[in-house]
Amino acid sequence: MKIERNTAVTVRLKLQDATGKILSSNDQPVAYLHGGYDNIFPKLEAQLEGQEAGFKATVELAPEDAFGQRDESLMQTIPKSQFPPGVKVGGQLEARAEDGTAVEFTVIKVKGDKVLLDANHPYAGKTLRVTVNVLDVRAATDEEITHGHVHGAHGHHH
Ligand code: ZN
Repeated sequence: MKIERNTAVTVRLKLQDATGKILSSNDQPVAYLHGGYDNIFPKLEAQLEGQEAGFKATVELAPEDAFGQRDESLMQTIPKSQFPPGVKVGGQLEARAEDGTAVEFTVIKVKGDKVLLDANHPYAGKTLRVTVNVLDVRAATDEEITHGHVHGAHGHHH
């Protein structure tokens, strides 16, 4: 079956930076709903259009096609006293913004009683090389199409 709008596509993804360093290689397949549901980077989705199980490709994504450019206004300094103990430089920390959404911070440095945090996505500003391997293609169910995501083992859990 070919990948087209409203198919549920199971893929395995490998993420590298522009120099070939592996950022993430997840053995766990992921399933997405194809056809502009914003489940996957649009440029990657375009490469998969019309392909079938077994298809493999490596796509290079500029920052604007992936996690966006860095925004220096997302850097912030907070007092160390507001900090959970045991947080290390390079570690991740989740905090709630005023509207209640979860924001993931990376700890950049600890200096005296101040901690510098960065809320940019760790891959923001990076050119990514994504290797995609199509494992399975099937028609999406009506419910999946209504929800805008794939259900089941490698998809969305409710
Ligand atoms: Zn759902």
